[in-house]
Amino acid sequence: MDISHIEHIGIAVKSLDEAIPYWENVLGLKCYNIEEVADQKVKTAFFKVGQTKIELLEPTSEESTIAKFIEKKGQGVHHIAFAVNGIENALADASEKGVQLIDKAPRGGAEGLSIAFLHPKSTCSVLTELCEDKNK
Ligand code: ZN
Repeated sequence: MDISHIEHIGIAVKSLDEAIPYWENVLGLKCYNIEEVADQKVKTAFFKVGQTKIELLEPTSEESTIAKFIEKKGQGVHHIAFAVNGIENALADASEKGVQLIDKAPRGGAEGLSIAFLHPKSTCSVLTELCEDKNK
Protein backbone atom coordinates (compact mmCIF):
# COMPACT_ATOMS: atom_id res chain seq x y z
CA MET A 1 0.00 0.00 0.00
CA ASP A 2 1.00 3.61 -0.47
CA ILE A 3 1.29 5.31 2.95
CA SER A 4 2.33 8.97 2.94
CA HIS A 5 2.45 9.78 6.67
CA ILE A 6 0.86 9.23 10.06
CA GLU A 7 -2.43 11.09 9.71
CA HIS A 8 -3.30 10.94 13.40
CA ILE A 9 -2.95 9.06 16.65
CA GLY A 10 -6.24 8.26 18.37
CA ILE A 11 -6.30 8.45 22.16
CA ALA A 12 -9.22 7.24 24.27
CA VAL A 13 -10.19 9.59 27.11
CA LYS A 14 -13.03 9.56 29.59
CA SER A 15 -13.67 13.27 29.23
CA LEU A 16 -12.53 15.81 26.64
CA ASP A 17 -13.05 18.59 29.17
CA GLU A 18 -10.60 16.93 31.53
CA ALA A 19 -8.09 15.91 28.84
CA ILE A 20 -7.89 19.03 26.66
CA PRO A 21 -6.19 21.28 29.28
CA TYR A 22 -3.16 18.94 29.38
CA TRP A 23 -2.71 19.11 25.62
CA GLU A 24 -3.25 22.89 25.52
CA ASN A 25 -1.68 24.15 28.74
CA VAL A 26 1.21 21.71 29.17
CA LEU A 27 2.07 20.75 25.59
CA GLY A 28 1.03 24.10 24.14
CA LEU A 29 -1.03 22.61 21.31
CA LYS A 30 -4.29 24.20 20.20
CA CYS A 31 -7.52 22.26 19.91
CA TYR A 32 -8.78 23.42 16.51
CA ASN A 33 -11.83 21.20 16.08
CA ILE A 34 -14.34 19.33 18.22
CA GLU A 35 -16.65 17.06 16.33
CA GLU A 36 -19.19 14.42 17.26
CA VAL A 37 -19.16 11.30 15.09
CA ALA A 38 -22.62 9.88 15.84
CA ASP A 39 -21.88 6.78 13.81
CA GLN A 40 -19.05 5.80 16.15
CA LYS A 41 -20.68 7.19 19.31
CA VAL A 42 -17.71 9.43 20.07
CA LYS A 43 -16.87 13.08 20.45
CA THR A 44 -13.46 13.95 19.04
CA ALA A 45 -11.02 16.79 19.67
CA PHE A 46 -8.17 17.49 17.26
CA PHE A 47 -4.70 18.98 17.69
CA LYS A 48 -2.05 19.45 14.99
CA VAL A 49 1.54 18.36 15.50
CA GLY A 50 3.27 19.12 12.22
CA GLN A 51 1.25 17.31 9.58
CA THR A 52 0.16 14.67 12.11
CA LYS A 53 -2.87 15.14 14.34
CA ILE A 54 -3.79 13.94 17.76
CA GLU A 55 -7.41 12.78 17.96
CA LEU A 56 -8.85 12.55 21.47
CA LEU A 57 -11.89 10.27 21.60
CA GLU A 58 -14.55 10.55 24.29
CA PRO A 59 -17.36 7.97 24.27
CA THR A 60 -20.88 9.44 24.04
CA SER A 61 -22.55 6.13 24.93
CA GLU A 62 -21.72 3.03 26.96
CA GLU A 63 -22.20 1.12 23.70
CA SER A 64 -19.30 2.97 22.10
CA THR A 65 -16.23 0.86 21.30
CA ILE A 66 -14.24 3.61 23.05
CA ALA A 67 -16.25 3.09 26.26
CA LYS A 68 -15.52 -0.64 26.06
CA PHE A 69 -11.84 0.03 25.39
CA ILE A 70 -11.53 2.30 28.44
CA GLU A 71 -13.37 -0.23 30.58
CA LYS A 72 -10.96 -2.98 29.55
CA LYS A 73 -7.65 -1.15 29.25
CA GLY A 74 -8.13 2.29 30.74
CA GLN A 75 -7.46 5.58 28.97
CA GLY A 76 -4.60 5.70 26.49
CA VAL A 77 -3.44 5.21 22.92
CA HIS A 78 -6.28 3.59 20.99
CA HIS A 79 -5.18 3.53 17.35
CA ILE A 80 -2.70 4.77 14.77
CA ALA A 81 -4.04 6.17 11.52
CA PHE A 82 -1.99 6.17 8.33
CA ALA A 83 -2.79 8.42 5.40
CA VAL A 84 -2.86 6.31 2.25
CA ASN A 85 -3.23 7.06 -1.40
CA GLY A 86 -5.96 4.79 -2.77
CA ILE A 87 -7.70 3.42 0.32
CA GLU A 88 -9.67 0.78 -1.63
CA ASN A 89 -6.44 -0.62 -3.07
CA ALA A 90 -4.79 -0.52 0.35
CA LEU A 91 -7.64 -2.57 1.85
CA ALA A 92 -7.57 -5.07 -1.01
CA ASP A 93 -3.80 -5.35 -0.62
CA ALA A 94 -4.02 -5.95 3.15
CA SER A 95 -6.78 -8.51 2.71
CA GLU A 96 -4.80 -10.32 0.04
CA LYS A 97 -1.90 -10.54 2.49
CA GLY A 98 -4.10 -12.25 5.06
CA VAL A 99 -4.94 -9.25 7.24
CA GLN A 100 -8.35 -9.39 8.89
CA LEU A 101 -10.34 -6.24 8.07
CA ILE A 102 -12.82 -4.56 10.40
CA ASP A 103 -14.12 -2.50 7.48
CA LYS A 104 -14.24 -4.23 4.12
CA ALA A 105 -15.02 -0.90 2.47
CA PRO A 106 -14.15 2.67 3.51
CA ARG A 107 -16.71 4.66 5.52
CA GLY A 108 -17.01 8.28 6.59
CA GLY A 109 -14.92 9.39 9.57
CA ALA A 110 -14.22 12.66 11.37
CA GLU A 111 -12.98 15.61 9.29
CA GLY A 112 -14.58 14.24 6.12
CA LEU A 113 -12.01 11.49 5.69
CA SER A 114 -12.69 8.06 4.23
CA ILE A 115 -11.54 5.59 6.84
CA ALA A 116 -11.23 1.84 7.42
CA PHE A 117 -9.82 -0.21 10.28
CA LEU A 118 -7.58 -3.29 10.21
CA HIS A 119 -8.20 -5.84 12.94
CA PRO A 120 -5.68 -5.79 15.83
CA LYS A 121 -5.47 -9.58 15.60
CA SER A 122 -3.57 -9.08 12.37
CA THR A 123 -1.52 -6.02 13.34
CA CYS A 124 0.44 -7.04 16.46
CA SER A 125 -2.45 -5.69 18.58
CA VAL A 126 -2.13 -2.13 17.30
CA LEU A 127 -5.53 -1.05 16.06
CA THR A 128 -4.68 0.42 12.66
CA GLU A 129 -6.75 2.90 10.70
CA LEU A 130 -6.21 3.75 7.08
CA CYS A 131 -7.56 7.05 5.86
CA GLU A 132 -7.73 9.12 2.74
CA ASP A 133 -8.85 12.66 2.17
CA LYS A 134 -10.93 12.34 -1.00
CA ASN A 135 -11.78 16.06 -0.96
CA LYS A 136 -8.19 17.02 -1.74
ZN1 ZN B 1 -8.90 7.79 14.01
